Amino acid sequence: MSELSSKILNSIENVIGKKNDINCIPLHEPYFEDTNAWKYVKNCIDTGWVSSSGDWIEKFEKGICSYTGSKYSIVVNNGTVGLRLALYVSGVERNDEVLIPPFSFVATANAVSHLGAIPHFIDIEGTTLSMCPKSLEKRLDQIAVKKEGKVFNIKTGRRIAALLPVHVFGIPANLSELLKISKSWGIPIIEDAAEALGSWFNISNKKKHCGLIGDLGVISFNGNKLITSGGGGVIITNNKELALRAKHLSRTAKINHPWEFDHDAIGWNDRLPNLNAALGLSQLEVLENRLIMKRNLLKKYKENLHSIKEIYFLNPRVNSISNNWLITISLNFKDIIKTKKERNELLNQAHKRNILLRPLWKPLHKLKMFRKSPKSSLFLAEEYEYRIINLPSSPQLLI
Ligand SMILES: *Cc1c(COP(=O)(O)O)cnc(C)c1O
Repeated sequence: MSELSSKILNSIENVIGKKNDINCIPLHEPYFEDTNAWKYVKNCIDTGWVSSSGDWIEKFEKGICSYTGSKYSIVVNNGTVGLRLALYVSGVERNDEVLIPPFSFVATANAVSHLGAIPHFIDIEGTTLSMCPKSLEKRLDQIAVKKEGKVFNIKTGRRIAALLPVHVFGIPANLSELLKISKSWGIPIIEDAAEALGSWFNISNKKKHCGLIGDLGVISFNGNKLITSGGGGVIITNNKELALRAKHLSRTAKINHPWEFDHDAIGWNDRLPNLNAALGLSQLEVLENRLIMKRNLLKKYKENLHSIKEIYFLNPRVNSISNNWLITISLNFKDIIKTKKERNELLNQAHKRNILLRPLWKPLHKLKMFRKSPKSSLFLAEEYEYRIINLPSSPQLLI
C-alpha cells in the first residue's frame, strides 16, 4: 500500500472511527432520527392525502421560500425534471445549445437532451470545479454572434439558448462573473443548485441563496443530498411569469376549474406527491442543524488531514458559503499519470477498508452520449479529472 493512501485513510478513520467488515461507510446517508418525519408521513397515510395534492406540498414550498428568500418555488418529482422544466420555461427549444460545465452528475446534460437541445461544454475553474468565466467569455468570443437579440453558434448554426452552471458539491460557482457575461450576451442563466441547498453567494453586497442569482435555480431532494424528500426537487425563482408558467406546466397545464378538464398546452406531470412533501418538510425543519453538523465534520477532517502535504481541501471563494454537501479533497501532484496512480491506489485501499471514498464523475463530454457535443478547450477539466476525492460526508457521522 502506498504511504500516502495509508496516511489519508488512517486520518479519515481518526475522524469517523474504524469500520468492521459488515458496516461500510457510505458517502452520504439520509438521517431522520431527530425529526417529525414519521408524524408528518403518518398524517398523509391517515388522511389518505398521499398523492399529487395536499397541504404538505404548499407548506414545503412556503418553507423553501422562507429559507432561501425566493419569491416563488415549485416542488417537482426530482431535480432532473426540475432542470428540464426550468430550461423549458426559460425558452430552450429543440436543437438549441445549452452551455454547461463537464463535471456534474449526468442529469445536468440529460435534462438538456430531454428537450432535444444539445449540451455544449465549457472548461472548469480549479477553485469551484464549475464553469470558468474566462473560458466562457473566450469561447463565446470565438464562436458566437448576436443576431436580432439572439445568440448563435457560427460553427453549428444553432442558437445558444442558456447557461447552466452547476454548484458542484455545494460550492457556489463563480456566479458574479458568469452573470456579467450572461447579461452582456443576453443569455439566461439556469443554476443547477441540486447539491446546493444552504449554499450562499454574496453579490452586490447582498447574500443570495444559490439558484436565485440567475433566472431560475433547481435544488434536488434525492436521498443522497443534504436533506431528502425520498425523491424530489424544487425550482426557485424571483420571476413571477416564469414561476407561474413552470407551475402550470408541471401540473398537466390544467386550467383551474372545479369540475372541468381543460388543458391549454402539452404539460408534464412533474408534481411532487404530498407524501414526499411531508417528508421533505420534516427535513427542512432540521436543515440549520444539519449545516452545523456538516461544518463540524469538515473541521474534524481538516484537523486530522491538514499535515498531509500531498492533498488540500476544496474551499469556497471568499464571496460565498458552501453547505459542505460533499467534503472534497484534491491531490496536489502536477503529473497526471502519477495523480491517477495515487488516486486509484487510494480508492482501492479505501474500499478494502469499507470506506466508500468517491472519485469525481467521469466528465460528461467523455460519456458515449455526449462525445460529439460541441466543447471549448477542456484543458483544466482534463487536469482535474483524477485529482478529486469526496470523503464520507453524512452529517450524522460524528454522532
Ligand atoms: C442530484 C443531482 C441532479 C439530479 O437530481 P435528481 O433529484 O437526482 O433527479 C442534478 N444535478 C446535480 C449536480 C445533482 O447532483
